[in-house]
Amino acid sequence: MGIIVQKFGGTSLATPESRLKALAKIIDAKENGDTVVVVVSAMGRLGSPYATDTLLSLVGYKEAKVCNQELDLLISTGEVIASVIMSNLLNSHGLDAKALTGGGAGVITDDNHLAAEVLHIDTNHIRNLLETGIIPVIAGFQGRGPHNEVTTIGRGGSDTTAALFGEALKAERVEIYTDVDGIMTADPKVCISAKIIDEVSYTEVFQMADSGAKVIHPRAVEIAMRSGIKMLIKNTFNDHVGTRISHYNHIDKKYHIEEKLITSIAHRTNRVQVHVEGAMDDEVFFAKLAQEEVSIDIINIFPNRRVFTIDADKKEKALEVIKEHAVSHYFIDNCCKVTVIGERMTGVPGVMAKIIKSLASENIEILQTADSLSTIACLIRQQDLKKSIAALHQAFDLN
Ligand code: ADP
Ligand code: ASP
Ligand code: MG
Repeated sequence: MGIIVQKFGGTSLATPESRLKALAKIIDAKENGDTVVVVVSAMGRLGSPYATDTLLSLVGYKEAKVCNQELDLLISTGEVIASVIMSNLLNSHGLDAKALTGGGAGVITDDNHLAAEVLHIDTNHIRNLLETGIIPVIAGFQGRGPHNEVTTIGRGGSDTTAALFGEALKAERVEIYTDVDGIMTADPKVCISAKIIDEVSYTEVFQMADSGAKVIHPRAVEIAMRSGIKMLIKNTFNDHVGTRISHYNHIDKKYHIEEKLITSIAHRTNRVQVHVEGAMDDEVFFAKLAQEEVSIDIINIFPNRRVFTIDADKKEKALEVIKEHAVSHYFIDNCCKVTVIGERMTGVPGVMAKIIKSLASENIEILQTADSLSTIACLIRQQDLKKSIAALHQAFDLN
């Protein structure tokens, strides 16, 4: 049997009981004859002692008076602790395991601390361990920079670590273990009628992740897509078969199983709509926003008027740039973006009309829209989020 990479997320490792569930998945794979590489996230979520957000809170998040390199040193410890604890658990159940930092496992990055780019995976050490029957337990989300310093690769990056090792080791598949049964038609925390999706295309999952669905990191999907690695999203806590991610068959316009025009609805909260009015040099203005790391979304430019959305955390920075240009402006706070996703919608008329009709029937005002080949996004008010997802979910027959 081939190599499989199993990645366990924060909630899958939060308690001794949940770690036993993760252990059972590793044992199952070994008993099946697979060669297993384990990748772990930090244990638990904010409030758990070694979760990434808890570690960041120890130095006051954005008010921290240490540089990004030191922040990397701090937050990388969450995954390191998880790797040793899981290795200890495996060894105490008779399996040979070895905990490794990301850098120790061969993740080589640039020095862009907190958002480092992975340049290369050196698989030598991992291959040596596998050859001697040892299960590597790799701390996700981190690597080694050009001066051997610890780096991290961006929030949610353990999924990316798993996909990168899957690619570099030519693994048979990558299994992402989390706290839901797989990829669902919408976030089950927001939509009670969300249903599990058996099979979905790389492109659609990428669009979902990129549109805010937290279940997997978009970068991990990109890596799996470019290398054609099979990816499964599964629940650590039960035996549900989970979701398979595969290529959509463009010729037959069908998957093996899914036949829906729209496969899912994703959302992103914490958005602010920005209106900027008056004559100015748009090129300079948008370049300055980029320089200040204010990333913009859903953008419409009219003569002497621009409307776009930003993350609420970037509002102060955006305001500074707007003031430099001495133009009038106003913000609409507390917005969110709801995106319907489906590769089959390409070239099919009437999808937008259906969205407008279903939101109008619930008196939900659309503040702005944007679309791509396989997505249509609407900016709405945060208070309308649940209602809008429920309406769209029903309109597109996902219930
Ligand atoms: P992990 O700690 O395992 O990495 P995450 O919190 O990053 O877990 O991702 C799992 C969560 O993603 C789920 O608890 C769920 O609320 C959320 N989620 C958002 N959109 C979806 C979706 N379409 N399908 C499944 N889960 C989703
Ligand atoms: N622990 C990191 C985070 O919370 C990485 C991950 O969980 O994937 O962002
Ligand atoms: Mg995650």
